[in-house]
Parts: sequence; C-alpha cells; structure tokens
Amino acid sequence: LTTGALIAQMLVDPVGLILRWYDELQVAQVSLARLVGVRDIEPAAGDPAVAPDGRDVHADRVHFGYRAGVDVLREVSLEVAPGTRLALVGPSGAGKSTLGRLLAGIYAPRDGRITLGGAELSRMPAEEVRSHVALVNQEHHVFVGSLRDNLLLARTGAADAELWAALGAVDADGWARALGDGLDTEVGSGGVALTPAQAQQIALARLVLADPHTLVLDEATSLLDPRAARHLERSLARVLDGRTVIAIAHRLHTAHDADVIAVVENGRISELGSHDQLVAAEGAYAALWRSWHG
Ligand code: ADP
Ligand code: MG
Repeated sequence: LTTGALIAQMLVDPVGLILRWYDELQVAQVSLARLVGVRDIEPAAGDPAVAPDGRDVHADRVHFGYRAGVDVLREVSLEVAPGTRLALVGPSGAGKSTLGRLLAGIYAPRDGRITLGGAELSRMPAEEVRSHVALVNQEHHVFVGSLRDNLLLARTGAADAELWAALGAVDADGWARALGDGLDTEVGSGGVALTPAQAQQIALARLVLADPHTLVLDEATSLLDPRAARHLERSLARVLDGRTVIAIAHRLHTAHDADVIAVVENGRISELGSHDQLVAAEGAYAALWRSWHG
C-alpha cells in the first residue's frame, strides 16, 4: 500500500478502508485525518487559497461545540507570536485538547476566527494547513504499511536519504537500521511490533519531514516510562527548536518554561500571562503552582 494509494483510499473509498483496516479504523481514521490534513472542514466554494506571509496565530472570539447546543469553547481569544511557546493549563474537560484541535485546523470554529499569518485557517486548502501547523498527540502513530510508507505520509516523494536523516534527527536511525528490511520493514498491526517510544519517534520523524512552523502538542510523552519519556523529550526539544509551540501542559514544569500561559477553565481562557505574572496575580494558576510545591 503506497502513501498515495492510502490517502486516495481514505478520500474516495471509506468503505474499502473499513474492510481492510477494520481493526484499526477508529484510531487510524482520526489520526490519519490529522496527519494528512483530511478534515471535517470543507473550504467554501470560491474562496481564494490564502497564502499567509506571516506566522502569528490568532484566535478571535472563538466558539465551538461538538454537538449543537453544547458549548465546549466560548469567546476564546489568543495571540501567539512567531517562535514563542504558549502553554495551555487547566482542569480535565476544560477544553484544552479541543482548542488544540482548532488551532491545528482539525475543526473549524462555529463562531469567531482562527488565523495564521492573517489568513483564516478554515479557508485554507488542507495541504496548506498541513505545511504550516501540525498536531502531535498520543494517538496511534503507526499505520499498516512499511516504515517508508509511514514516513512518506508527512512528505510525499521524499528520498530515502531524507527519511534516514529525519530518523537520525530524532535518534531513531539506530533501531530502524537494525530492522530486518530497513525502510521496507512492515510495521503496524501484522508487521514488526514497535514500542510506544518508537511509535512516538516515527511521529516526530514525520514532523521533521513536514517541517511545519507551528506545533500543537497534546500529551506527547505521557504513555511512556520515565526513561523513554526523557529520551524522547530530548529529541522533541530539538524538533521544537525555532518553531511556535502551543503545548497542552500536564505537568507544571512545562508551563513554567513557556513564554505565555493560558489557563483554560470551563471553555474559557480565565488567565493569560507569564508564569511570574500569573503567580503575582494570585489566581487559579498561582493556587495550582502553590499546591504543586506542597
Ligand atoms: P481537556 O483537554 O481540557 O481535558 P477536552 O477538550 O478534551 O478537554 O474536552 C472538553 C469537553 O469536550 C469535554 O466535555 C469533553 O467531554 C468534550 N469532548 C472532547 N472531545 C470530544 C469529541 N470528540 N466529541 C464530543 N465531545 C468531546
Ligand atoms: Mg485533553
């Protein structure tokens, strides 16, 4: 199954996809959609393809819900300057992952706008969105096919040397070379079983290949044992370097290191500022920080 065939099948033959991938469909379909930019957003007919010349991310009074009548995000406004790191913190169910999906262009706001370099994300062709912004999460990262197929999803037509360079950039070339058939090794269900850490490295190698300037990170290392997580964090740090990063922070040290922290509570941004500003403000973040420090 080549990458092109896989994507084509995804687009034109969802039933065939169900029959062939029935065991992985749920996760594969969602994750593939994120990877290849197949979204629930259809650019409106006649909209020009907008080419952003900047990299700033703006959310302007964004409202969103998965179901009619149930608001998950309300009046969310944000500005993220190029190259800065924004951390989203807040209680479970507050809407952090949902906001991450909107900022990555997976879903369109029901009301309000999200722009990238001044261009509205939901009006951009999927391919263009994918070249600018990527979502990294802990969902299924390996698909049925060869290691090469799995990497080419991020950049169709890349040469093997580029694939090896991407694997090397995330410290995955050692184990990948040790696989029986190198890039031709079948991975995913039925193929060589990869560890969760290796699957995450494949996802990171895809990022290196896709080279988006903005990344949304959601729980990238939480499924791993501490040693694998530390190892992966080093690779991740290199991949993040120089990019705009919107990180959903599950540990406060991630937030502490961010340039700006947004506290999300009940679908709204309740506090916004640097760590020092928010601690001084004595609000929800300050309380969280104090309880963290015993
Ligand atoms: P957080 O990441 O802060 O824990 P989420 O964005 O995951 O919060 O969830 C916000 C709300 O949206 C929750 O009430 C959750 O149940 C709901 N929700 C999240 N994902 C979906 C989905 N795919 N379909 C329907 N509801 C969802
Ligand atoms: Mg979440």
